[in-house]
Amino acid sequence: MTNNQQWQLARTPPGGMPDDGDFQWVEGDLPRTGKDQMLTRTIYLSLDPYQWGRRRSGLESPGEVCHGRTVSQVIESQLAGYEAGDLVFNTNGWQTHGLSGAGISVFGYMFPRKLDPDLAPISTAVGILGMLGLTAYAGVYVQCQPKPGETVVVSAASGGVGQAAGQIAKIKGCRVVGIAGVEDKCRFVIDELGFDACVSHLSETYAEDLAAACPDGIDIYFENVGGKVFEGVLPLLNQGSRVTRCGLISQYGNTDGADPAETWLATGQPYFDRAGTGVFPLAVRNFVEAHQDRCFNEMGQWIRDGLVKYREDLWTGLENTPVAFSAMLSGGNFGKTLIAVSEDPTLDAAIAERRASGNTLAR
Ligand code: NDP
Repeated sequence: MTNNQQWQLARTPPGGMPDDGDFQWVEGDLPRTGKDQMLTRTIYLSLDPYQWGRRRSGLESPGEVCHGRTVSQVIESQLAGYEAGDLVFNTNGWQTHGLSGAGISVFGYMFPRKLDPDLAPISTAVGILGMLGLTAYAGVYVQCQPKPGETVVVSAASGGVGQAAGQIAKIKGCRVVGIAGVEDKCRFVIDELGFDACVSHLSETYAEDLAAACPDGIDIYFENVGGKVFEGVLPLLNQGSRVTRCGLISQYGNTDGADPAETWLATGQPYFDRAGTGVFPLAVRNFVEAHQDRCFNEMGQWIRDGLVKYREDLWTGLENTPVAFSAMLSGGNFGKTLIAVSEDPTLDAAIAERRASGNTLAR
């Protein structure tokens, strides 16, 4: 008989990066549906850097199932409007099965939401046609308002948000320079995503390489990383430049107690003052209501037109979740990190093969 498998938070992490002691594997009976509830099986689980912040800050308690957005299939339903077989975007978290109730709003997102597999591959609901796509759209397009010919720099350029951010700037007619880690990622950013250049932050000559790749300076910087990567950007900011602070992933393992956002601003302020830079902290939840529908319509069309590509880093099996999570936080991922928890009923063999050889790294 099928049971439920899950990863629970074992302790509030003491600091630094995740390790084995932070998570515990628990198996139990399948949850039973009550009135206005449905039972779903998880198909794809999204791993995102913000999940580490939740755990470190105590927002998740020991013994709780680790939070995560999911794409799932309904097994049995007592919830009006849903029936067995339906595909949904929900928040089962790090487990094989979960119960969902009637529409709850978490940070402006409605859970659950029905998915139409004819519109786009269902995994995109937790990727390019989900929070990641909207984050990129909000930061580049809504906040920084790129103009044709401007130079846009995107850090963590091969990652989930970075890929989308750079491609949106290309569509808006900008010259786009990525920053990524290893050579393979830099090549991918140029050859597959169509960025004009990409420099490696691992190089000893990173700051010089970035300056050489941006001969006309930087008009827009999409910040995903912080730290040394950010310091290389600062002297290149043009008059009237704009910076969106999306994330500071290089600081997420900090143990010094300092607020990474405050340190970041203090470091950047003299440069922002000199260049009259507009600085925009980004919280994607603030853009859901006003921009999500338009973003998903436009992004969906760009994907169908071949103007936007996306790469997924797909791990198979819930048991691999902590390893994949740690990899993502330290640059070991290559694209949007997902766990394939159970079979995707919309994938026929031909599509599966195309995904495996094209925009999906299958592990
Ligand atoms: P990614 O898929 O981009 O994965 C993280 C990447 O960050 C890694 O692949 C690695 O790329 C890079 N990285 C990790 N550590 C370092 C380091 N020390 N120095 C330089 N680069 C590093 O993740 P996401 O696309 O999901 O998220 C990207 C950023 O967007 C994160 O900072 C996240 O917190 C933020 N975010 C913010 C949101 C908001 O509302 N503001 C919403 C969603 C995401 P490489 O190997 O190329 O260095």
